[in-house]
Amino acid sequence: MASHYSLFVEKWKSCTACELHKDRQNVVLARGKIPCDVLFVGEAPGQSEDCLSAPFVGPAGQLLDKIVERAIASDVRVAFTNLVCCIPLDDDGVKVSEPPDEAIEACSIRLQEFVEIANPRLIVCVGKLAKDWLDPGWKHSIRFHAKIPLVDITHPAFILRANIAQQGLLCQKATVILRNAVEDILLKR
Ligand code: SF4
Repeated sequence: MASHYSLFVEKWKSCTACELHKDRQNVVLARGKIPCDVLFVGEAPGQSEDCLSAPFVGPAGQLLDKIVERAIASDVRVAFTNLVCCIPLDDDGVKVSEPPDEAIEACSIRLQEFVEIANPRLIVCVGKLAKDWLDPGWKHSIRFHAKIPLVDITHPAFILRANIAQQGLLCQKATVILRNAVEDILLKR
């Protein structure tokens, strides 16, 4: 029998619910262990993700993997997704910094379904945009059925744009936030 996740992939892999479908090579749904303990939600796929059909596989994703390795024990199941699953491009084919609100709204139905299947105990908002959309206090909040604790960390793409000294500090801060949040949820197991 097909798993819930296989059915989910089948349902969304050809989605045309928003304009972003026109420029994508692949719908980038998720990677990692599903179900998971910790779900990372970023913003949108980039060029590497669009090619490989997996989130957080470019340089920023590789930095995020390093932070996760430092902060979280290997037996904690982690998974990754984004607010939108299709790369947002401008007219020149360059990735725009933020996907349009309409695309995030359209893709939020998919995100809510994914959160039900992944069933995380903690959601990590990767970057400000994910925080703004997932934080229950914000006007555009995506509301999950279950109340799931949230933390937020600096987006690794932002860290990579900082100077070397700042990069070290920002990575350290993200590591501490993750480690503390995961220790908290594991204590409640
Ligand atoms: Fe569908 Fe989401 Fe892609 Fe829009 S971004 S076409 S809603 S999968």
